[in-house]
Amino acid sequence: SVISFIFLKQRYDRKLKRSAKIMKTFGIDLSAPSQYNSNSLDKWEIPKDNVVVNRRLGEGAFGTVYGGEARLGSGNWTAVAVKTLKAGASTEDRVDFLSEAEAMKRFNHKNIIQLLAVSLQSEPIYSIMEFMLYGDLKTFLLARRNMVNDKVSDDSDISSRRLTMYAFDVARGLAYLADQKYVHRDLACRNCLVNAQRVVKIGDFGMARPTFETDYYRFNRKGMLPVRWMAPEALALGRFTPASDIWSFGVVLFEIISFGSYPYQGLTNSQVLEFVKKGNTLEIPIGIKPPLVGLINACWSQEASKRPTALEVIDFILNYPRLLTPSLDFPGAAVEFPEK
Ligand code: ADP
Repeated sequence: SVISFIFLKQRYDRKLKRSAKIMKTFGIDLSAPSQYNSNSLDKWEIPKDNVVVNRRLGEGAFGTVYGGEARLGSGNWTAVAVKTLKAGASTEDRVDFLSEAEAMKRFNHKNIIQLLAVSLQSEPIYSIMEFMLYGDLKTFLLARRNMVNDKVSDDSDISSRRLTMYAFDVARGLAYLADQKYVHRDLACRNCLVNAQRVVKIGDFGMARPTFETDYYRFNRKGMLPVRWMAPEALALGRFTPASDIWSFGVVLFEIISFGSYPYQGLTNSQVLEFVKKGNTLEIPIGIKPPLVGLINACWSQEASKRPTALEVIDFILNYPRLLTPSLDFPGAAVEFPEK
């Protein structure tokens, strides 16, 4: 038991070290709660009286996400999504929750989920974001899969024009993040949300890090890596860069045209890991247009430096307003999959 004590202590020390590092990166000072209850209140802080939650939207990594309304600076009540930190969460989860909110405070872009406010003065703590009516892009696409053989107009949710706009929105969000010197590290349709106007925005900054940070150690809360979205150098060396986000964008393109299909259907996570590390990629569904095949292949270049930048992707898509066409014509497209 002495040994297990030493082991636990070492593990605890490592956790503390990492937490300290994150807090330093994001300027969080847990030892100074006065930051929140003095008169120098964080400009993002709003009292709980100004928030009503009225329904459950989904389960997040830290706690339930609710839909509701909040009275923001303007005094008007606005539809919002409220992320909560579940009661009894560990210090580590708390740090992760707060650092996600801190990261989001820096961002202000049409294609990035906007943080609107936080409410940290009483438990449970909230981070309050713009409301995205149609939820995540993967569920949105899955729900529209049965329309694939319908004749659709340009304004249909699944027209080529619309599918291309979803991809364009994600690329714009990525370009902004790269410009802000941020690497998302977990780009996937499940982490993009769709609003009432069908604008797609990148969310879930739980794994996002400043580009310079080299802390790949404890990757995400459940210790699970999004291997199916990860570039070979991210899998092999833990190297996350704007270029590895572009690889993930290639997988997002696959997800969009295949209406939320699960990448590498039929392979386990560890098989995917070996497969991709050996230099293989997902099979591109047949029947899609050559320029899209070209773009996807470029995103999946083995050499990170050969992949296009998000700005180049934007330029490319601008030339082809109907670049993405639906494709369910590949093995595994129709199969149910185990994960969200
Ligand atoms: P976490 O990142 O903590 O795992 P998510 O961001 O994935 O949590 O949120 C869980 C679910 O809650 C999402 O799949 C989505 O359905 C819903 N949700 C999250 N944020 C919003 C939002 N801003 N507007 C509407 N629904 C949201």
